[in-house]
Amino acid sequence: MSIPRARKALDGIPAYRAGKPALTEAHKLSSNENPYAPLPGVMERAGSELARINRYPDAGMTVLHEALSERFGLPTDHFAAGTGSVAVLFALLSAHLEAGDEIVHAWRSFEAYPIAADLTGATSVRVPLRPDATHDLEAMAAAVTDRTKVVLVCTPNNPTGPVVTAAELSAFLDAVPRHVLVVVDEAYVEFVRDPEAASGLVALAEHDNVVVLRTFSKAYGLAGLRIGYAIAHPEIAASIRKATPPFAVTDLSQAAAVASLEAQEALDERVELIVQERIAVVEMLRKQGWDVPDTEANFVWLPLGEDAMDFALACDPVSVRPFPGEGVRVSIGMPEVNAQLVALAGQWLEARA
Ligand code: PMP
Repeated sequence: MSIPRARKALDGIPAYRAGKPALTEAHKLSSNENPYAPLPGVMERAGSELARINRYPDAGMTVLHEALSERFGLPTDHFAAGTGSVAVLFALLSAHLEAGDEIVHAWRSFEAYPIAADLTGATSVRVPLRPDATHDLEAMAAAVTDRTKVVLVCTPNNPTGPVVTAAELSAFLDAVPRHVLVVVDEAYVEFVRDPEAASGLVALAEHDNVVVLRTFSKAYGLAGLRIGYAIAHPEIAASIRKATPPFAVTDLSQAAAVASLEAQEALDERVELIVQERIAVVEMLRKQGWDVPDTEANFVWLPLGEDAMDFALACDPVSVRPFPGEGVRVSIGMPEVNAQLVALAGQWLEARA
């Protein structure tokens, strides 16, 4: 019996792999989540929407767009929200790419990039990271052809951690034709402390072809509510909104996002604790002998090559994220679990010495 066949393009697309569950929530260092429980005020505001879930949500996301507009000092038509920044990216690419187009991005980078490109029928052109795990923006500019419609710049880069510098991004934007969209994926931007780091918003102020991607999943701790957004020229923001399913973002998510923007100070304190833990974890791992690239995100990268799976198994009961043949990404969690991970990493190295 034959069943209807999906588009051929899907045959080569791997399923997205999510981070593994762990013994306890606290032991899960595999998905770059915020380890802190949601703020009570944020939960309350989301919960207050439960009484009207018989109604569709606010399709125009007016309150959220207004809150973002106030936060960033840009008119509301510069924003387009969706069910996580990954969905916003899928909408953007489906609005701008067709079969035969090319999309340039670094590799290794966020694994959803080639999947999103393949879904549109476009060709994803992967430009290797430099040996220090940073984007090679000169090589990426050189990879742009007449067929390139989109370039993705992930800063800080998932899974390796480094940022693109402001000088590098500025030179890159000058080198790339204005009809090419440059997406600056800033999923981890709130954890950045490097004063030389690029800012997508600064780039957008100077270049209409820039799209900044942000999320409430990481620093804001709302991964489970699936809410992210783009900041872009109004015409580009409108194309994203058109390509987004109607009523995609629930009122629960919108309310939690707005309450989180209002609770910025309390959330910043948590982000700072995570940043301090990151700095300590990197220092301890380097002391043990690990070659950890600079990271400005809420995770660290261990370039283990063929030993990635072996190391990930040895981390039990802490769940980390192996990339077979390449390395292991470890999210920053609560201090006790970070310490447990560092101890396991030290034991693993000693056993091999
Ligand atoms: N961009 C990057 C670089 C990411 O690492 C992630 C999450 N892993 C996302 C986007 C998507 O995040 P979300 O869909 O939860 O907003």
